Amino acid sequence: MIVYLIRGTKCKGYWNKHMMEKPPGNLLTKTNTILLLFLAVGLIISVLVYRFVTQIEQANTDLIKSHLNVYSELELYRSVLANQEHSFRFDNNITLSEQTFRQANQTATKLLDRLKGYYSQQPKLKTLDDNQAQLRELAELIFISEPQSENKLTKIATVKNHIFQLIAQSKLVVSDLSRVIDKRIKTSNQGVKRQLDNLRTSILVYGAFSLIVAFLILRSFKLHVASSRLSERLALFPHRSPNPIISLNTKNQVTYSNPATRRLLTKLNRSTEDTHTIFPADIVSLQHSITTKDKRFTTTKYDLNDCTFECELHWLPDQKQWDLHLSDITAKQRAEDKLQFQAYHHPETGLQNQYKFAEVMQDWVSQTQPFTHGQIEIRSFSRLLADANDNKSHQVVTELAALLDKASHDTASDMRLFHIGDKNFAILIPDSDCQDTVKRLVELINTAVTKTQFSSQHTVELDFGFACYPMHGKDQESLVRNTRIALDASASSAHSDYMIFDDQLGAVISRHNALHTAMLAAFNNHDFQLHYQPQLALNTNKITGVEVLLRWLWEEQWISPTEFIPLAERSGLILKLGNWVLNTACLKAKQLIDMGYADLVIAVNISPKQFTAPTFVEQVKQALRASELPAKNLELEITEGVLFNSDTATTNALHQLKQLGVKLAIDDFGTGYSSLSYLKDFPIDKLKIDQSFVRNMHNDKADQSIVRSVIDLGNNLDLTLIAEGVEQQEQVDMLDKMGCAEIQGFWFSKPLSEHNLRDFLEQKRSVT
Ligand code: C2E
Ligand code: CA
Ligand code: CA
Repeated sequence: MIVYLIRGTKCKGYWNKHMMEKPPGNLLTKTNTILLLFLAVGLIISVLVYRFVTQIEQANTDLIKSHLNVYSELELYRSVLANQEHSFRFDNNITLSEQTFRQANQTATKLLDRLKGYYSQQPKLKTLDDNQAQLRELAELIFISEPQSENKLTKIATVKNHIFQLIAQSKLVVSDLSRVIDKRIKTSNQGVKRQLDNLRTSILVYGAFSLIVAFLILRSFKLHVASSRLSERLALFPHRSPNPIISLNTKNQVTYSNPATRRLLTKLNRSTEDTHTIFPADIVSLQHSITTKDKRFTTTKYDLNDCTFECELHWLPDQKQWDLHLSDITAKQRAEDKLQFQAYHHPETGLQNQYKFAEVMQDWVSQTQPFTHGQIEIRSFSRLLADANDNKSHQVVTELAALLDKASHDTASDMRLFHIGDKNFAILIPDSDCQDTVKRLVELINTAVTKTQFSSQHTVELDFGFACYPMHGKDQESLVRNTRIALDASASSAHSDYMIFDDQLGAVISRHNALHTAMLAAFNNHDFQLHYQPQLALNTNKITGVEVLLRWLWEEQWISPTEFIPLAERSGLILKLGNWVLNTACLKAKQLIDMGYADLVIAVNISPKQFTAPTFVEQVKQALRASELPAKNLELEITEGVLFNSDTATTNALHQLKQLGVKLAIDDFGTGYSSLSYLKDFPIDKLKIDQSFVRNMHNDKADQSIVRSVIDLGNNLDLTLIAEGVEQQEQVDMLDKMGCAEIQGFWFSKPLSEHNLRDFLEQKRSVT
């Protein structure tokens, strides 16, 4: 257990920091090694010191015993030689000479014998010995002869001379010997000095070594004490741990459980004998996975009563033991679950959100099985927001989400629904027969939606787009893009409930992309032109105004504004383009006024994006200033949507324009919100009845009554009425009868080029 604790993950950081480098076993071995080394070095140094001391002693003995004795004996011999020499100087007293000589000679012989005792092999001693013998012989010659004759005296003198020479020679030999001894003494002295040096060095080395060893031993001792304390603490760890720790043998029998385990069992109302009931249920397979995969531990989560536990299961091969570490992670798990839920669910509807959608979609794509992706969008969502207050609109969306959830499950149980944006839902249908499933789903949803009053009063309309994997996109990105394309196409088509992506739709999108690029170039190259469609007052039969219509010739084909204006709106180019139309139209109108058409009103189409731009009013003022066109000759055609979604800034803009004297007309009236009540709140001059009602009004009673009620209402509100798309005489007659003031359409004139407009105006002026 303790071994595990030291090695186990919980203590790993501490262990690494304090123990890994110097575990207690290592520490002892190291200490022992140091001690042994210390003893060995001590032994070697002792042997060395003993040897040095012996050598010094030997050298000293030599010095004292032989060399110094020899030295003093030699000195004595030198004085004996002097005595011998001296004895022959007594010329008068031969007896004294003989006596002195014999004494000296005797001493000399003894000395020489003693010296030979020291240096038996010394050749110089032999010389001295020989000399002494000769001396003795020569002396005898002198002592035995009677010095009577002159001749004899001369002979004695010669012998004496010889003696003196021998003595002088011996003195030289003694000096030589003294030098030899001197040298030997010096050498011996140096030897002693050297040994003393060695001794000193050895003692110093041993001293330093002892210090190092003492330091190392002290350090080892400290570490050992520290590690003992740690081991003690670690040993107490399982006992003090607030988390249950249980040890099992290889038969999964409990060999140890700490007090926290018993506390947990009591808390769970289980007997303290039933420790096995708090093991993970799959403990055997977990153990199997550890042993077969050569792992040390594994982690698992499981519930005990209402709590969630995390269990770390460790295998301790050296102890042949399993250790279980349990921790109560209920609070953490709940927080995690909550975060996980929030991360992957829409906060209002509780449906899975865009992030989950992206993950699931990625997963489905990677499985390469065919499936269908759909997107559902709430139509006119901004209107819903305006209609209902904030809470109500949330309520509507929540109710709709529940309805969609039910419908999707009723269609196919394995269908997945996601709430991916305020007004957007996504579905994933695991089906290869997407056409049929999609049809059923849309029918089911639409039937349910039509029947429902959301938040007790609101109706909701939906647009649907679908694309099939892998037919319409081999990856997530292209599949989502094509589903969006289908959705947009469905939203802009009045005739289809839903749209499944096909290649034709793809072609439309490529054309849109090409048009978008070409449009930018056309604007920079001034390729856009303006055409003008005259408007006729039925009661006076006079031209009251002309509507300016944008024309674009691209690759020798006229591109309809119904195609390129929405694209320009989407890309934002409409702001520049619309401003150009406004300025050019004002300039042209001013020219016509200057030509004498003083009351002619030029009507300019203004897109919602353009109108709601904060600089719009300023741009109108600027266009009027630059062209010097009177404001009363300018009419701005806006759509119902601008009024309907208006905020304070839009309302202010409308009033500012009105104050300038500019006229305001509502274009395509009747197609949008079909509610006339809001009109009185805005400074509007004119309603343009949409072509769709006029087109069949002479055949269709319903259209006829719509047109009539619009005219009646408009007249009641004191607004000028103009019918668009008038092609037939019958339509003209009907409109006239109904009280419609003006008409515009092919019946009177198609849109004309500037040149043709001038001719047309000229022609009409001359007729009236
Ligand atoms: P709109 O404002 O409703 O313009 C009237 C459309 O009806 C014009 O189509 C016109 O040519 C067409 N029209 C007029 N009389 C008849 C008729 O008797 N029968 C038929 N079948 N059609 C008739 P056009 O020129 O294709 O313009 C389409 C739309 O493009 C316009 O609808 C308008 O919404 C937009 N548009 C055109 N020019 C501009 C512009 O300068 N700015 C903005 N924002 N939109 C413009
Ligand atoms: Ca118009
Ligand atoms: Ca119109």
